[in-house]
Amino acid sequence: MNNSKESGMSTAVEGRVITHDGKIKILTMTYSYVSGEESWDGIESFYSVGIDITKEREEQEIQRRVLNEAYQTARVANAAKTNFLSAMSHDIRTPMNAVMGMTEIAQANLDAPDKIRDCLNKISSSSQHLLSLINEVLDMSKIESGKVNMTLEPINLQGLTDIVADMCRPLVNEKKQHFEISLENVKHENIIADGDRLRQVLMNLLSNAIKYTPEGGKISLKISEQYSPNPKKSQYEFVCTDNGIGISEGFLPQVFDPFARAEDHQISKMQGTGLGMAITENIVRMMNGTVSVESVKGKGSIFTVSVPFEVCVKDETYHDTLAGPSESGDGGRRKNHEKDTVFTDEIYGKKVLLAEDNEINREIAVELLKMYGIEVNAVTNGEEAVETFEKSAPEDYSAILMDIQMPVMNGYEATLAIRHLKRKDAKTIPIIALTANAFTSDAAKARSVGMNDHVAKPIEMDRLLEVLEKWMDQKSN
Ligand code: ATP
Ligand code: MG
Repeated sequence: MNNSKESGMSTAVEGRVITHDGKIKILTMTYSYVSGEESWDGIESFYSVGIDITKEREEQEIQRRVLNEAYQTARVANAAKTNFLSAMSHDIRTPMNAVMGMTEIAQANLDAPDKIRDCLNKISSSSQHLLSLINEVLDMSKIESGKVNMTLEPINLQGLTDIVADMCRPLVNEKKQHFEISLENVKHENIIADGDRLRQVLMNLLSNAIKYTPEGGKISLKISEQYSPNPKKSQYEFVCTDNGIGISEGFLPQVFDPFARAEDHQISKMQGTGLGMAITENIVRMMNGTVSVESVKGKGSIFTVSVPFEVCVKDETYHDTLAGPSESGDGGRRKNHEKDTVFTDEIYGKKVLLAEDNEINREIAVELLKMYGIEVNAVTNGEEAVETFEKSAPEDYSAILMDIQMPVMNGYEATLAIRHLKRKDAKTIPIIALTANAFTSDAAKARSVGMNDHVAKPIEMDRLLEVLEKWMDQKSN
């Protein structure tokens, strides 16, 4: 290094000094040389200026720490996203693979009906699985973004457990497990709750108990009503016990974390995303309740959900509030699935206009509706729907089923255009959104442009028929 300096040249140094009262200060010292060309050692005169930069440095340190924390948070979130995507991609690919493979096998065996039937059964169960996976992920993101509202209605606990038992039975039978659901000390069977969400909580607990308990094991769900000083509210406890593989002490605190699954070859063999318990905990929290778990590896697990519910003190409240038959004891909820009214006058022989751009989806909708006696005229975008409806004779169509995302003109624009047509039935024809966008905000948007209702794809026929029947019925009244 060349140490020779010129007059006027400065050198700055940063250093720490301890003040007389023991504090550490950070200073920058600037040395300026005033005499001629000398070596560093031989400098005769210079002056120095010291500036206290302690505050700036402290602020910089705080900013650095904040940035680092933000970076670490982003890194963790990113890692969670990556884990999620790889788990999802695996979990989606597995059933998808079955759908594609079975389709190919069926195509190669067109003259063997038994083989085709077998393939179709497998395609059907894999698609069910895919749908529940998609629903779980949607549910989780909806819950996390606070978009879920509780729908409170009168519920009969015995009816609810009957439904849950029916849903579990095929799985339990397959694994030859001993399965029991009981109501113990339940004074008020009729409560005010979100029945769908409560059923989802119980199903998530029971499906785990069944899944993580070997063949021949024992599973039970006990529901009890705890004493409450408030005559209108009771604390209910739902205890799900199994004698399955159990959970290690190390994993126990993570059971309710999203996407967490025990690192165990027995677990990884089984299908799952690790979302069931995270969803359960979120729902229970929304119900102002708690969920806890006790478990011993190799021995079994006990999950306890405790939630306060308003009770229906008089049974009349329960019967009065229900729209459907309540003697089924299931809160009237099964009526839509049990009804054999799919061929009622309301919809049988009626004609609907369907706008759907995707060829396969169009074909599926047409075939399914035909099976229920509904005549369908299908078009491929919103503009064609408007033109076809405009040219049709009054009252020719009983309803319009409208996809949302379509080329040329989307479903929202088409609905607005139809509602503005100058013909008498333009304002009254039921327009139902058929869409793969399953969020509540989409339903709100559909209504705001003049659609009557909203049905999510993939189409569940029960729901579509129920909606068609409802709106066609209102139209004819
Ligand atoms: P899915 O999202 O399909 O429910 P999953 O069952 O793996 O997937 P969770 O229900 O959230 O996810 O459960 C998280 C983890 O907790 C499971 O992977 C398993 O390791 C453990 N676990 C939950 N319930 C039980 C149980 N009854 N017995 C043993 N382990 C359990
Ligand atoms: Mg689960």
